[in-house]
Amino acid sequence: MKLTFHGTLSSIAQGNPRHAHQSLLEVAYGGRQLLIDCGSDWLGQLPIADPVALLLTHAHPDHIGGLVCGAPCPIYAHAATMEIIAAFPLSRRVLITAREPFYVAGFRLEAFSLQHSPRAPAVGYRIQAGRSAIFYCPDVAAIPERHQALSGIQLYIGDGASYRQSLLRWEDDMLYGHAPLLDQLSWCAEEKVPRMLISHCGEEIIANENRIAHQLQSSARKLGIKAGIAYDSMTLELR
Ligand SMILES: [Zn+2]
Ligand SMILES: [Zn+2]
Repeated sequence: MKLTFHGTLSSIAQGNPRHAHQSLLEVAYGGRQLLIDCGSDWLGQLPIADPVALLLTHAHPDHIGGLVCGAPCPIYAHAATMEIIAAFPLSRRVLITAREPFYVAGFRLEAFSLQHSPRAPAVGYRIQAGRSAIFYCPDVAAIPERHQALSGIQLYIGDGASYRQSLLRWEDDMLYGHAPLLDQLSWCAEEKVPRMLISHCGEEIIANENRIAHQLQSSARKLGIKAGIAYDSMTLELR
């Protein structure tokens, strides 16, 4: 499985050359590529011509805005997202359901409901191909079924909107927003995930990337985890 982080920026920060584009991940296996999310700044300029599928995590503009004029491939999304993009000119839509695995071109995919936004309910994706398995959740406050989502994966790709700053809030007894990096690191430690990469970078990372990367790596090392901050155009091969 080969990953390309075409975009690693969240909508809540001004970008810089390392994080110029909103989060968009390409996952390739056996010559086929799928994409996850497509924010407004990808409108009219998808990074690859012929993906087999484009999966959506949720319907915030930095994840769906690039699809307002259509898409060159089927769009996979759960019902809450599909409803919000109902007016987009998308001819091929595939409705998915959390915890019901589905298969696309050699990938085994499974969506897990996340706590992130009450108005744009989100999912994260567990993606398996060959012997590799990853979990991708660019926007997350909490993963209710965390053990099932993360057990046995090689890599967790998480939400870089917040390092220490609290972007979490309670509404109707539910936690929403963005979990700090160190909370996500502790999830990886609890589920014995050996590697963590951060995407969807927010203001703290944009302003202090070197310092935060250093602190994150040293906290991760103590837990036996390899951690880092992804940047635009970064590639990673998993075997
Ligand atoms: Zn976002
Ligand atoms: Zn969001």
